[in-house]
Formats: sequence, structure tokens, C-alpha cells
Amino acid sequence: MPMIFPDNTPSISDQTSWQPTIWLLWLLSALFLFVWLAPYFHSFEKIAAFLTLHNILETLSVAFAALIFVTGCQSNIGARSLNIMLISCAFLAVALLDFGHSMSCPGMPLFVTPAGPSKAIAFWLAARFISALSLLLAIALKWKTLTFSYSRNLVFLFFVAYAVVAYWLILLHPQSLPKTYLSGTGFTTFKIIAEYAITLMLIAATILILLFIGNRHTDNDYSRNLFKAAAIMVLSELSFVVYSNPSDIFTLLGHCYKILAFYFLYKAVYSASVKSPHEKLQTLQNRGEIEMELAQITLSSIGDAIVTTNYDGTILFLNRIAESLTGWSQDEAEGKPLNEVLHLVNQMTRKPLINPAFLAVRDNKTVIDEPNNHSLLISRANKEHAIEYTASPICNAEGYVLGSVLVFHNISEKFQLMEQISWQAGHDTLTHLPNRTLLSDRISQAIAHASRQQHLLLVCFMDLDGFKAVNDLHGHELGDKLLIEVARRLINVVRSNDTVSRLGGDEFVLLLNEVNTMDEVDILITRVLEEMARPYQIAQQTLKISASIGMTVFPFDSSDTDTLLRHADQAMYQAKQKGRNRFHLFDASMDLQVQEHHQLLSRLEQAVSNKELLLHYQPKINLKTSKVMGMEGLIRWQHPEQGLLEPLDFLHLAEDSNLIVDIGNLVLHEALSQIAEWHAAGHDWVISVNIAARQLKQHDFINNLQTILAQHPGAPASMLELEILESSALADLEHVRNIILTCQKMGISVSLDDFGSGYSSLAYLRHLPVNTLKIDQLFVRDMLDDEEDCALVDGILQMARVFKREVVAEGMETAAHGALLLKLGCTVAQGYGIARPMPAAEVADWAAQFKPDPRWQNYPAALVGWGHIATETNKVQAELLLYKV
Ligand code: C2E
Ligand code: MG
Ligand code: MG
Repeated sequence: MPMIFPDNTPSISDQTSWQPTIWLLWLLSALFLFVWLAPYFHSFEKIAAFLTLHNILETLSVAFAALIFVTGCQSNIGARSLNIMLISCAFLAVALLDFGHSMSCPGMPLFVTPAGPSKAIAFWLAARFISALSLLLAIALKWKTLTFSYSRNLVFLFFVAYAVVAYWLILLHPQSLPKTYLSGTGFTTFKIIAEYAITLMLIAATILILLFIGNRHTDNDYSRNLFKAAAIMVLSELSFVVYSNPSDIFTLLGHCYKILAFYFLYKAVYSASVKSPHEKLQTLQNRGEIEMELAQITLSSIGDAIVTTNYDGTILFLNRIAESLTGWSQDEAEGKPLNEVLHLVNQMTRKPLINPAFLAVRDNKTVIDEPNNHSLLISRANKEHAIEYTASPICNAEGYVLGSVLVFHNISEKFQLMEQISWQAGHDTLTHLPNRTLLSDRISQAIAHASRQQHLLLVCFMDLDGFKAVNDLHGHELGDKLLIEVARRLINVVRSNDTVSRLGGDEFVLLLNEVNTMDEVDILITRVLEEMARPYQIAQQTLKISASIGMTVFPFDSSDTDTLLRHADQAMYQAKQKGRNRFHLFDASMDLQVQEHHQLLSRLEQAVSNKELLLHYQPKINLKTSKVMGMEGLIRWQHPEQGLLEPLDFLHLAEDSNLIVDIGNLVLHEALSQIAEWHAAGHDWVISVNIAARQLKQHDFINNLQTILAQHPGAPASMLELEILESSALADLEHVRNIILTCQKMGISVSLDDFGSGYSSLAYLRHLPVNTLKIDQLFVRDMLDDEEDCALVDGILQMARVFKREVVAEGMETAAHGALLLKLGCTVAQGYGIARPMPAAEVADWAAQFKPDPRWQNYPAALVGWGHIATETNKVQAELLLYKV
């Protein structure tokens, strides 16, 4: 049980406060001794009118005893202590018994029974005993608080019962009590022993007080007065022990001491039950006020806004930040309903929010703002602040909700920043259109919507035609402006519920919702194309571009965002291929082709690693001498199921991927191994290999070539020839020129394959220092029938002579072709008319048995003087002559 007054523990060493007490007791003891020992005072053995004096003194002591009872028992300070209750209730009994004593003194009228010394002494002893006992108990027992009123009532009833029993015995059954006075002999031994016993009890009480100072009660005043009271009571009792006559000086002194003791006891009880609690309360109140002031200062210094309300939401307090955010001062807001001062709405819906303070009070728990609340505080001046809040109930010690405290802070800046970040995550910063991330979301939503509403949903992939040229010609700045204008036009042309998005570069996606018929689509997309093709006026430049659009329609096509976008993209490529500035609707079979393509490609990859690719060799012959000049290595795929496949069946699959580079390297290794083998066998056949455009573009082409060469030391570089397609050489003239020169330095010769098909001008040829031109087989094959082709072949041959380049004619299918080639001055040829491409293993045998066809060898002489203009005639004549041979 906690002490009520836990501080200021007193001690006897607290010299200053105890000194007067000690002095007083010395004085009173000295007085007692003086009266006792001085013979003079013994002459006052019988004081005149003692009864009246006695009555006055007893009345005073009854009054003090009653005061002790009332003060101790009726002070209503919290839970009273057992110790004070013992004293105060005992003194009610003392008051009653002393009254009985006063009424029983000889000379007093009838008080139920006649007055007499025995009756008076009985009342006296009963009163003294209970007072001494109560003091002893109050001091000896630990300080204990009586929380419940019934325990206090018990104490009260005990002492009342004591008084009642004493009265009952003394008035109605005096004979049952021991004798205390005998007329003639005076006081009985019992009486004297009783007085001594009471004196001893009081002495014990006095000693205990000194022992327990600060232990039983922390109030110094209480201990001091209690000590004085007990000590003076001892003196009082001693006076009654030494007296000889009921009306002598000792009786008078004893009564005076008793009154004085009661007075100090009253002060002790008053101090413990009135003065001390009051001072304590005063201290607490002062401390409370200071704490309140501190709390106010603290609340005002906090960076967050704070509003407190009472239980029904009436505002009690606003700190400075809350004042500035709400626009209400403390004085204006105090007593106003919370909703009037704190106007909260949802930022998105603008709907009023339930004030969190009410929720905190209602549910008796802390309410924390959630990000999706988007709480917005609208101030008195209609200023809006995005806020984040916490509302908590204010509860008393018993847990009852008294009100609420709402803490909030302005997050407008943070909110704007967050909005900006989230906007950037979903938008293209140049055109401010939704980007791919946001578009994916929109497509998902649109799919769900279209499914519910049973509408068509169109995903259109748009790519600008000619945008790259604008960028290259006018720079990126203008290109950006053009994209912004394109975006603006797109937004204007589509409907408000459609989405225009930019994926990057010049790629846009239109998401057209709620379409009912394909006719609608037609009209809408045609309008978009027209808008895109309308000239643009940007930075004093008039620009013309157009757009190609690929479309796919949900629900005819997949319900998956990525697939829809991919399909629209494929359809856009179709539109481009068909000639741009048009739209194309995705069709599923096209998708199948793409899938098939992927499958074939991975099968080809597998073929490379399974070593299913090999080279066949087609000889090149000097028509005049019939010497085998070399071989062209041509790739074949020995397919396990489909047999031998030719390059046209599979090579295109790899052309757009790096697989073509891997294949090229494989061919180089294969050819070099073959060169080494044939070279060792004494065949000086130059082997040519075809280099794909993509491989030629590799920045490490030369390094790679050198590495491969180094791995085949038996193959002289001069035996290797690279065939570069005329078209790929023209694509990056400078790069290819450097490659040619470097290869030639390494001893590798280079030929321009399919020459004539790329229409290279003389100027280009001058920059491409190739060793050989391989005339495109299309011209050679058709030269017998086509006058122009014949003229072309003739032209190429003359050009080669001027530029001092070797020439190989491809596609020499027949002896007639050979005859005409010789006639035109072309000596080296390759074609079915000589030999078809064959496996390496067959080459040596073929070469050993190869004999030149006498028809083309004899033919030139027979043709002397023939022009080659009249092709038809040439052909017929050549044929006739050949048959004659
Ligand atoms: P190309 O380099 O122009 O090769 C000549 C093609 O003409 C070969 O076809 C050959 O069989 C064919 N040919 C030869 N003489 C005649 C003839 O008298 N009449 C007809 N109609 N055709 C004749 P092939 O082997 O199917 O190769 C086709 C093309 O594939 C080659 O044309 C070349 O561009 C490419 N190619 C072949 N092998 C490779 C290779 O290893 N790598 C790369 N990148 N391309 C290769
Ligand atoms: Mg070739
Ligand atoms: Mg060719």
C-alpha cells in the first residue's frame, strides 16, 4: 500500500524543528518535579471549588477529545489511515467516558446512579486506558490506509461499543467492576496498578514514537505533536499516580497536562489528516500547473499540428502549426465543433472524410492515416493542404476516454513530389503521353471493360515513316518537336476515352475503346493517317512524314497485353512492307509464320552445334586452258530428316541474327581445313567462301579472320578468297574498303559476288579494290536470250579490263554459254555447264577425270566476225555450230 505522503522523512536529528518540543517537555517535567518535590505545594491538598474547576477542565478535555474525533474521522481526504482512525475513534470514546467521569464526581447530581469516587474513577480509568491503548496501537502498527469505508466503520463501531459497554458496566453493573476506591482507605491497589499500567503504556508509546519517527508517518508535525501528546499524557498520568486527594494540586496538574496533551494530539491528528494532505494537494496543484504550462509550451514548439478535443469533439486546444494550417486561432477555435475548424476531404473524390478524432474516441484506439486516404485539409481561407495524421484517444487513469488528440503535418510538397515521380513512372517526358508501363495497365483495364460491355478493343501500333531522315537531316531538337506535334495531333484526332501512348522513338500506340464495327475503325484510322501525313510547320521548316499503322482487335485476338502489342507491331511491319502510309490488320496466320520462323531458327542453331552443316565445292575453270582455277565453297545442311538442304532453304533464317556469324566462322574453318588438305595433296585451288553482310559489319571481322587463319597453319592465306556481295559492300563502302585492303595485305583475295545486281557505279568500283568481279549468274544465264543481259556482260567485261580486275562468270549452264563467254573475252567461268557443287570427297576424282568440252574450245574461232547484238541469231548460230562439232 503506498504511503500517502512519501516525502520529507523527518528525524529527531532534525534539531531545529524538535528543539521547542524538547524544551517544552523539559519545562513541563520540571514543573511536575517542582510541584511534586516542593513541600510548598502540598499545602494545596484540597482546592476550594474544585468541582467547578474540575468540570471546566473536563469539559475542555471532552471538547478537545471530540475535536480529535471529528478532525481525524471526518476529514475527507482520500483514503484515511488506520492509525489516525484508531486515535480519532478512540477519542470519541474518551470524550464520552470523560463526560461520564465529569458527571460522576462527588458533588454532581444523579447521573443514572448517584455520583461517587468509584464511579468517577471507573469512567476515568476506562477513558485513560482506551486513550493510552489507541495511542500505543496507532504508533506500533505500520501506517496503513483504509481504502474501504466498512473497515473504517468497524474501527468506529469498536470504540463506540467500548464506550457503551463501559457505560453499561459502570452505571448498571458497578459491582462487577474491581474496587478502585474505598471510603476511609482511599484508592485501592487495583486503581494504583491500573494508573501505573496506563503510565507504562504511555511511556512505551512515547518511546515508540521516537523509534518510529519517519517510519510510521513522514509528516514531521504529526510525529512531533504525537510525541508531545504522549509525553505529556505520561506526566498527566504520573500526576494521578502521585496524588493523594481527588481535589489536590496533582489532580489539577494532571487535568491540565491532560488538556495540553489532548491539544497536541488534536494538532497531530489535524496535521496528518487536514494540514498535510492540504499542503500536498497544494504542491500537486502547483506542480500540475507548472506541468500544464510546460505541456503547452511543448505542444506549441512541436513541428506537427496538434488539435485536442473533448469527448464530443469540441475543440480544446490548437498549437501554432495547427492554427496556421487551419486558419483558426486558438481563441476562435476553442469550444467550436471539430468539423467546423478541421475540414477534411478526399483529394481524389473531394468527398468529406470522417474526422479521425471521432473514430479515435468511438473505437478508443489510435487511428493512423493511410496513403490511399489522400487526406486534404481545406483551411478557413480555402487553401488546400495534403496532410498525414494520427488521432489518439485521451484516457484517464481508469481508461475512460475523455477526448482526443489529433496530430497532423503538411505533406503537400512530399505529395507533389510523389505525384511527380509516379507520373514520370507512367509517362513519356517528351510528349507527356502514357509510356509502355501505363499503357499495359490501360490495355488490361480496357480488355476487362470491353469483355463486360461486349465492345471491340483496338490496339494500333504506329510507326512514323521518314522520321529517321528528318532526325538525320535537321537534328534531334527538331525531331523532338516533330514528335511533340505528332502526339498533339494524335490526341486531337482520337476520342476522349481513347489512349495515345508513346513507346519510344517514333513508335506510338493507340488504344481505341468501345468500337462497335470495323467500319468505325476504318474511318478513325484513315483520319489518323491523314492527320499524320498533313505537312508540319516546325521551326520555319515544312516537314512531310507519314505513318504506318498495324492493328489488332480484341476479342478476335488474344486477351493478353503483350501479345496484343506484339501482334499490332507485326501488322505494322506488314503495313510498312506494303508501302507505308497505310494500315494493316493483324492476321493470325502471319503470327504462325513468325512462330515457325523461331522454331526453324532454333533448329538451325542446333544444326550448327550438331555439325550438320558442311561445304560443297563448285569448280571455277579457265575456259581457254581448261585449268581448274579454284572452287567456291557453298554451304549445305545435311538435315537428318529432310536430306541435303541448299542455302536458299535455310540461310535466310539466320541472316537477321548473329547465328549467321557463327555459320560464317564455321565455313571459314571448314574451307581452311580443306585448303590445307588439298594444298598438301599438291592442288593449288583457291577456295572462295561467301561472307554474309552481317558478318562483314562485325567490328572485329579482321581480328576474327586472323585468329581463324592462325588455327590452320597448313592453309596459305593466298589460297583463300572472300566473296562479298555487291549489295553488302555498297552498304558501308568505307568499312568494306578497309577490310578488302587489309585482307589483300594478308594475301587473301577478295571478289565482288553477284556483280551487276547492285548496280554499282564506276565511282563505287573505283573505291572497292577487289581482285575479282563475279558476274551475277542471272545475266550470264540469260545472255543467250536477252540482248540487254548480253550487253551487260560485255559491259562488265570491258569495265573489268579498264579497272584491271579479274572476272569470273557465274551460271555457265551450257557449252553455248561457255562459247559466248569466250567470244566476249571472259576466260574464267563457274556453272552447271562445268560441274555442279559437289562434296569435298568427290572433288579430287572429278578434277582427275575433268576434260574440257571441245565445243566451247572450238567455238570462238568459228564465231570470228560475229557480233553479239542480234542475240537471237547469236544463239541459233551458236547452237547450230555446236551441233556441228
Ligand atoms: P552465290 O555465291 O552466287 O553462289 C552461286 C550459286 O549459284 C550456288 O547456289 C550455285 O549452286 C548456283 N549455281 C552455280 N552454277 C549455276 C548454274 O549454272 N545455274 C544455276 N541456276 N545456278 C548455278 P547455292 O549453292 O544454292 O547458293 C546460293 C547462294 O547462297 C550463294 O550464291 C551465296 O550467296 C549463298 N551461300 C552459299 N554458301 C554460302 C555460305 O557459306 N555463306 C553465305 N553467307 N552464303 C552462302
Ligand atoms: Mg558466291
Ligand atoms: Mg553469286
